[in-house]
Amino acid sequence: MTNTAQPVPFEKAVSETGDPFLLTPGPLTTSRTVKAAMLHDWGSRDASFGAINKAVLQHLPEIAKGADEYVTVPVQGSGTFAVEAMLTSFVPPKGRVLVLINGAYGHRAKRILDIARRRTLAHETPEDTVPDLHRVEHLLKRTPSITHIFAVHCETTSGILNPVDEIGVLAEKYAKSFLLDSMSAFGALPLDVRRANVNAVATSSNKCIEGVPGLGFVICRREALAATKGNATTLVLDLLDQWQNLEKTGQYRFTPPIHVIVAFHQALREFAAEGGVEGRGRRYRENCRILVSGMRALGFRTLLPDHLQAPIIVTFHMPTHPRFIFQRFYDGLKERGYVIYPGKLTVANSFRIGCIGRLGEKEMRGALAAVREVLDEMGVHDPAAKAA
Ligand SMILES: *Cc1c(COP(=O)(O)O)cnc(C)c1O
Repeated sequence: MTNTAQPVPFEKAVSETGDPFLLTPGPLTTSRTVKAAMLHDWGSRDASFGAINKAVLQHLPEIAKGADEYVTVPVQGSGTFAVEAMLTSFVPPKGRVLVLINGAYGHRAKRILDIARRRTLAHETPEDTVPDLHRVEHLLKRTPSITHIFAVHCETTSGILNPVDEIGVLAEKYAKSFLLDSMSAFGALPLDVRRANVNAVATSSNKCIEGVPGLGFVICRREALAATKGNATTLVLDLLDQWQNLEKTGQYRFTPPIHVIVAFHQALREFAAEGGVEGRGRRYRENCRILVSGMRALGFRTLLPDHLQAPIIVTFHMPTHPRFIFQRFYDGLKERGYVIYPGKLTVANSFRIGCIGRLGEKEMRGALAAVREVLDEMGVHDPAAKAA
């Protein structure tokens, strides 16, 4: 018998539902069971949905060690809707925010405040550099008009881990209200909102808790939320109104993304079963370790030194090899079942590979094997080499 079939050029990796793996910062690969939770219809006034929603909102402050001092206010929309709701609800017209910027999400927060006509003072450092805490302290000392500090926990632009606890110490020392965007870190990196003196933290359904996109959350210190009355600049993003209405009636003011919430409830169960922040963080750290050491072995260089790298997403310098073409690299990986992420940096030409979502050792090693194959296909043997 002769074998006339063409050899299979490569094996395509697929998730439990036959999809490519998303090595991106969200939306990300979710479990089959999270997706299956959405295969029903509920009325928004359905009592069983009400109970699920309540359980979700109660669970979140525990993850941030906020206990009864904190409440969760859900915000329909993507994560940025929650960040905008947090900033515009917490910062009064006479407020002024010290915005710590080292990437696109810090810039976005400043833009939100500019549009809402809230005064800001920016402390910007390059994308591979954490805020200069001496400088921050100096600004706080010198500028009494500052009422709030805004920081990003893991700046997803580069994957850098910002020093939340140290910023919190300064917030407490100078009696400023600390607002945190922990979107891409929440659930994977430890956060103790009381220790870090955080008044509000924004996160969303589709990052490290591994739900589907559609709902943001702001976990607020109860007293600080109560003090936001009259601040809001819009109806839909008024956190206090949203919360009071939920408390009073158990209902959202406007149509809730029910399927997203039910899927998130399932995602939280899977999160707890994995051991919460500790278990999830451990899997992501292992994913990150495998990825970084494997990519370095192939000749790639990371943007960040290991001590600044959060185990969420890794930025790699774009190879300088003349035969390396990013679009071919991206497409070759996608054909093999792995979706990566283009760069968003201004300091360097780069691309990113995420470590979060329903991914483990098998997927990370699979992605590395795919990277090796695509490099071979392009004839790139040492990505850092400048000449072929
Ligand atoms: C993902 C993310 C957001 C929100 O982005 P959306 O696209 O609106 O969901 C905000 N901040 C950070 C740090 C993020 O990683």
